[in-house]
Amino acid sequence: MKSIVIHAAKDLRIDERETGALGPGEVMIAIARGGICGSDLHYYNHGGFGDVRIREPMTLGHEVSGHVIALGDGVTGLAVGQLVAVSPSRPCYSCRYCREGRHNHCLNMRFYGSAMPFPHIQGAFRETLVAEASQCVSAEGLTPGEAAMGEPLAVCLHGVRQAGELLGKRVLVTGCGPIGLLCILAARRAGAGEIVATDLSDFTLGMAGAAGADRTVNMADASDDLAGYHADKGHFDILLECSGAAPALRAAIPALRPGGIIVQLGLGGDMTLPVQAMTARELQLRGSFRFHPEFATGLSLMQKGLIDVKPLITHTFSLNEAVAAFEMAGDRTQAMKAQIAFN
Ligand SMILES: [Zn+2]
Ligand SMILES: [Zn+2]
Repeated sequence: MKSIVIHAAKDLRIDERETGALGPGEVMIAIARGGICGSDLHYYNHGGFGDVRIREPMTLGHEVSGHVIALGDGVTGLAVGQLVAVSPSRPCYSCRYCREGRHNHCLNMRFYGSAMPFPHIQGAFRETLVAEASQCVSAEGLTPGEAAMGEPLAVCLHGVRQAGELLGKRVLVTGCGPIGLLCILAARRAGAGEIVATDLSDFTLGMAGAAGADRTVNMADASDDLAGYHADKGHFDILLECSGAAPALRAAIPALRPGGIIVQLGLGGDMTLPVQAMTARELQLRGSFRFHPEFATGLSLMQKGLIDVKPLITHTFSLNEAVAAFEMAGDRTQAMKAQIAFN
């Protein structure tokens, strides 16, 4: 079975790996699509991020969908041939945080394609995957590409949940990669009254407008900024920070109203915060990390036609073109979500 394996920065290989045996409660899946995520790109371009480094070869990937090809003993509710989205979230269900319902903070999390623990958790960019049945959500009615968007959509639904009530609220989204765009879709679905999006790329801002942003602002353009929102102590109730870039956050602060909420989704390493300005406005900073129940919610929203992710999938490459796919996925002048077709 072919797998996409990172050995070191810029050393991505298609290696043969064992599929593994099918145990009770598990399903074997022929992977159909895999979406390349920002974290996959960090491993590819830099060999990791922050303190997290690749210390052994690791199969990448955690945004996958596929068709069920075999059922293990005791599996019910899934059928051979069925298209499923596979959640990469594999909490233990028994640690203190799992028992509190905070599965995304599981002490024994085995999230696909993560070099945080050692040995690393191998990822899902492979032709065949054995997964727990509980990770699989029916994607009936969706394309394999849409189904593979279930993971980033879940990240954004969790982020929007951190913001609290959005009905009629004014929302600023900084960073218009796939997470920013999915946040726009999720915020609109949650009832946001006004959505403004910022980025440095005209291409991604065009897509943000198409996704439903009421206005887009290119912060790289000297004639365009957020100054128009500074009057009367600011304009926005909520900031969904998706860039992980300190300048984006810094520029957004004066546009936030007193009591405004910042939800930080972007993982940009150490960002410095303008604490004085945040304190004087009584802003609230809320982190958002991964997801758990939102995975199934996202699939359901797509199936009902309430969130359409199809326009975000700009490129699909074959497995043999994996390196080209990773190069394209990082190009914010022409790519939004790049996916790999496995079968
Ligand atoms: Zn992802
Ligand atoms: Zn746990």
